[in-house]
Amino acid sequence: MTETITKVREVKLFINGKYVESSANQLFEVKNPATQEVIAHVHEATADDVDQAARAAREAFENGPWRTMPLSERCNKIRRMAEIIIERKEELARLEALDVGKPYTVALEREIPRAAHNLSFFADFMEQQGGEVYPMEDYINYTRYEPVGVAGLITPWNLPLMLTTWKLGPCLAAGNTAIIKPAEVTPLTVSLLGEIAKEAGIPDGVVNVVHGFGGGSTGEYMTTHPEIDLISFTGETSTGKAIMKNGADTLKKVSFELGGKAANIIFEDADLNKAIPVSIQAAFMNSGQVCLAGSRILVQRTILDKFLEQFKAAAAALVVGDPQNPTTNMGPVVSKEHYEKVTSYLDIAREENSTLIYGGKRPELPDYLNTGYYLEPTIYLQENPNARICQEEIFGPIVTIIPFDTEEEALSIANATDYGLNGIVWTENLTRAHRISHKVRAGTIWVNCWFVRDLRAPFGGFKKSGVGREGGHHSLEFFTEAKNICINL
Ligand code: NAD
Repeated sequence: MTETITKVREVKLFINGKYVESSANQLFEVKNPATQEVIAHVHEATADDVDQAARAAREAFENGPWRTMPLSERCNKIRRMAEIIIERKEELARLEALDVGKPYTVALEREIPRAAHNLSFFADFMEQQGGEVYPMEDYINYTRYEPVGVAGLITPWNLPLMLTTWKLGPCLAAGNTAIIKPAEVTPLTVSLLGEIAKEAGIPDGVVNVVHGFGGGSTGEYMTTHPEIDLISFTGETSTGKAIMKNGADTLKKVSFELGGKAANIIFEDADLNKAIPVSIQAAFMNSGQVCLAGSRILVQRTILDKFLEQFKAAAAALVVGDPQNPTTNMGPVVSKEHYEKVTSYLDIAREENSTLIYGGKRPELPDYLNTGYYLEPTIYLQENPNARICQEEIFGPIVTIIPFDTEEEALSIANATDYGLNGIVWTENLTRAHRISHKVRAGTIWVNCWFVRDLRAPFGGFKKSGVGREGGHHSLEFFTEAKNICINL
């Protein structure tokens, strides 16, 4: 490993255009999940620090040039941020691989470019927006979409830069100012967004980054702060509930992207040459730490044996190893705490009489990775769709195969969950594809594909998987206030 990877970094807060230290000198450690080495000492934002950030963001919103500058100028600066991300993509991918444990090549080829695209897409999209006009006999109404104010953007650890820019793009394009809080276990790439914004010419105070934990720490200080007008949050369903309660007194506008437990339904007429490799991705990409993971694989019983054999062989072919190594397909899970949660499901699966098809233990790895939080890609077969491994979001490299006989049965299993983020359907029967897509209660349905994203399309969850939608004009609506102007002619 190179020096740039192994050195221990000091990560500061970025408030009003400058790196600053925690006012109480509170620092916490971040570890490399592949080795448990400490890779960063991070300044934790106290209530005072969050207050400083909120005041800076408020001042930049009310009195700075950001929201009133010509739209093209604002969007050019956002596009410049995207270019800087691409210019720094190797560094950002290394950092993302280092603190998340995801394969470097995946970060380099997919996630960092997508992070840049999130910004440039919303800059371009904003420039295309018009408004509504409603003429009356003697009056005319027209609508303006104005920024809301100071936005709190709180993001999880699984796709740090990609999910943060997915919020920051529309937030800035609409003319808001932002306080970003990345997850405490993976702050490295997001910590650079303040300096990248500054280098792109975005005025001080518009993009602030604070670090810390959730309840009783930085996250809660943000969600209760009177100067923060809205919270865009991605993370666990239980955290969404806490944020909604904490934000109630200051009546914050909220948008939540929460957990998932997607059904990946494989009918007997599916093209398994496509379904198997994509289902492997849906199960084990990012070590299964993807909200959209296809973690419940519903397989029609007539093809069960064939599917099990091929799916198992494909899982066995995945290279589990050092995230920095270009040939690695799957790294560790993100942290000790999360490893303990994920591996507790091995015992739960045993107690529930699930049949282990593949995995279930630490993989054989070189000595230097022996302390990493690794688990083999793990596959269970379970007949009972109400078993805990079929119902709870494990968020790790564990999937469950649930057999079914009829279409009705598949639908009823797919919908028997509190979550509703997405669903996946594999069939060559066009009418069945539509029928199932209409009946699965989830925000996104992928037919014969997975993880294909058009940034204009709505994205979000039914049921306990979210509140509101992101994507295209859905994002812009959240980050703006609609104003109607009525003129007497
Ligand atoms: P998490 O909810 O534990 O943490 C997410 C963020 O919220 C972190 O920055 C954390 O510090 C902060 N936080 C925690 N408690 C808080 C509180 N009381 N007040 C304010 N902030 C608080 O989630 P995680 O473990 O980082 O991420 C995994 C979860 O995210 C999974 O459930 C996954 O499904 C979900 N997720 C959803 C989507 C989506 O688009 N729907 C995308 C990615 C991840």
